[in-house]
Amino acid sequence: CGIVGFVGQGNPKEILLAGLSRLEYRGYDSAGIALYAHPFTVVKAVGKLEELKKKVEASKEFELPYSMGIGHTRWATHGKASEKNAHPHLSMHKEVVLVHNGIIENFAEIKNFLQEKGYSFYSDTDTEVAVNLMEYYYRKEKDILKALFSVQKELKGSFAFAIMFLEDANTLYAMRKDSPLIVGKGKNAFYLASDVSAFLDYTKKIYPVENREILSLSEKEIHIYNQNGEEVKRSSTIAELSQ
Ligand code: GLU
Repeated sequence: CGIVGFVGQGNPKEILLAGLSRLEYRGYDSAGIALYAHPFTVVKAVGKLEELKKKVEASKEFELPYSMGIGHTRWATHGKASEKNAHPHLSMHKEVVLVHNGIIENFAEIKNFLQEKGYSFYSDTDTEVAVNLMEYYYRKEKDILKALFSVQKELKGSFAFAIMFLEDANTLYAMRKDSPLIVGKGKNAFYLASDVSAFLDYTKKIYPVENREILSLSEKEIHIYNQNGEEVKRSSTIAELSQ
């Protein structure tokens, strides 16, 4: 129900957990975060964010430095609230990991297609279908942006995704259609969230994301592409606070 992402200089673990706390008001039944490492470090928990924080604190892996990560609070639409259905979701070959806010309406069709190609699934979510479709196209086209454009054409429904590819240690990817998504620009860092409140403690410089846009974010750069694959130039603005 809420997504967050961070790339750049900073402590992604702290930033993502703080961001998720700010999104708590949106409601959720489970939560999780993934940090970039080989393989990805993923932790999920059912119930309150406190449960997720406890698991993170208890894990030695999280003491390492990381340069990017993604986080999620889930409001289940497909599959009950359980640890396996909680996000982030990993693709079968563990080359892609993502968080998703929204509903993939044609997930059953895509699932059949992927099963015919040899893909298997561990969860009951529509989201796991999307992450495997990304991996499928990525392996086929050998280019991350091309793969994302192909996926965007096939998915019906609503989505805001924050995505990491194992091949690209420095870049956070995102795409949206009919679910909210906003970017924040820090000093040598970018933030991503469903709602600006998630990162206002760190920056007020924002880039609104339009429907059907695809983004790549790294420590110092932001690239925004429209659905025709053309790069869009956009200046940052200052978030206006309602109170
Ligand atoms: N449809 C997805 C699921 O059920 C995402 C739900 C959400 O937006 O939290 O896991």
